[in-house]
Amino acid sequence: MKAIDPTETDKPWDVIVIGAGPAGCTTAALLAEKGRRVLVLEKEKFPRYHIGESMMPFCWYTLNRLGLAEKMDEIGFTQKLSVQFVATDGMVSRPFYFFQHYDHPSATTWQVERMVFDQMLMDKARGNGAVVLEETKVLDTIRDESDGRIVGVRSESRDGRQDTWFAPVTVDATGRDALMVSKNRWRSRDPMLNKVAIWTYYEDAVRDPGLDAGSTTVAYLPGKGWFWYIPMRDNRVSVGVVAERDYLFRDTRDPAEIMAREIHENKWIESHLAPARQVGEYWVTGEYSYRSKYCADDGAVLVGDAFGFLDPVFSSGVFLALKSGELAADAIDEALTAGDVSAGRFQHYGEQVCLGMERMRKIVYAFYNENFSFGKLVKAHPELRPKLTDLLIGNVYGMEFDDLFAAIEEICALPADLDYGMKIPERGAVAAA
Ligand SMILES: Cc1cc2nc3c(=O)[nH]c(=O)nc-3n(C[C@H](O)[C@H](O)[C@H](O)COP(=O)(O)OP(=O)(O)OC[C@H]3O[C@@H](n4cnc5c(N)ncnc54)[C@H](O)[C@@H]3O)c2cc1C
Repeated sequence: MKAIDPTETDKPWDVIVIGAGPAGCTTAALLAEKGRRVLVLEKEKFPRYHIGESMMPFCWYTLNRLGLAEKMDEIGFTQKLSVQFVATDGMVSRPFYFFQHYDHPSATTWQVERMVFDQMLMDKARGNGAVVLEETKVLDTIRDESDGRIVGVRSESRDGRQDTWFAPVTVDATGRDALMVSKNRWRSRDPMLNKVAIWTYYEDAVRDPGLDAGSTTVAYLPGKGWFWYIPMRDNRVSVGVVAERDYLFRDTRDPAEIMAREIHENKWIESHLAPARQVGEYWVTGEYSYRSKYCADDGAVLVGDAFGFLDPVFSSGVFLALKSGELAADAIDEALTAGDVSAGRFQHYGEQVCLGMERMRKIVYAFYNENFSFGKLVKAHPELRPKLTDLLIGNVYGMEFDDLFAAIEEICALPADLDYGMKIPERGAVAAA
């Protein structure tokens, strides 16, 4: 496909995408594939570091639609065949092997270095004809003075040059920076899921043998905190600890000291890291789960973390980023064809993204409840183990989960669905320019 010259700014763009993470690049690649003129503005120079390394099996479907499923194998990312849970005394639960649940290429998923994964998606967007400008930070959206709809963005490049760009649709894919959510005060935090994460990398850590070599391990801490243990390529393991702020910072704020202290709280983590060497820096993030009050505005759509972020215990972030990018691309293409890019056109999009998020959010709430354990649930309802696995692999749209959630509610309370996220700001419908 012929690349578009980014200096041809006199030619109108159909869509501006802010942010070139998985959500932004998926939206951009699919819209460009449909022949839309797409401009992506990304503040960083790629490849750049990012957290979010463990994929869910159902990422495969969007990657396959993008023509990237085989590329994932070619790159040789670590293959992830299961998830396992480990008690503080080191007792390992029966792993959830995806291939035992269903026979499909998606049953093998991956642990990815995001530098490589995100670059692959950016290359795809470019290859499909989208123009991607790196080191170009979007400062704000531009609204039409007469009716308030979003008609473009203002950006600043690394050399300080400011530009304005115009298109009927702007996609906010700015990740946890969440540009529109921050500017419009649309962020609604999930108070129950207000955790802190500290993470770093190790070399020469123990890898489990055979099928479990690439598994994600979730290892418990007292008080429902947990470790992730993600084996990656090049002898590296990503290890993070997630818990309540008061628990983690109880006697120090130094991430290295906290990590060293917590490693002794789980026997499996302790033994797996015993021969290992810590490498690189320690990373810390708070501001955990949130969702935007609205999924769209007139002339704008929010995707991925820019729309909502859910605690990463079940590795749902990249899946939801890819899926929302895919859903948004289809909705935007239809809206452009219809000549109506008002927020109302995107209500169904918001409902779909919220449906997936809500289903994942319920199981995340259960995970953090003192009374809940997967062992308890499966013992009481062995017939629901397949459905539980469906949820854990990201098959959130394929079936109803009422019986599973009813069974969980025999053990612990679950939250009601949030009544926002799919709603739209109340403003008049707007015709596309
Ligand atoms: C501690 C932690 C652990 C996690 N672990 C996992 C995991 O194991 N598995 C998983 O699936 N998910 C995980 N996640 C979630 C995952 O990181 C995100 O869900 C995913 O990266 C979202 O993709 P995105 O495209 O929406 O945003 P991002 O990947 O954050 O991409 C957003 C892009 O927008 C750019 N940008 C931001 N602001 C601007 C601006 N103003 N102008 C231009 N560009 C801008 C950024 O530079 C960035 O490149 C984890 C998250 C955290 C915090």
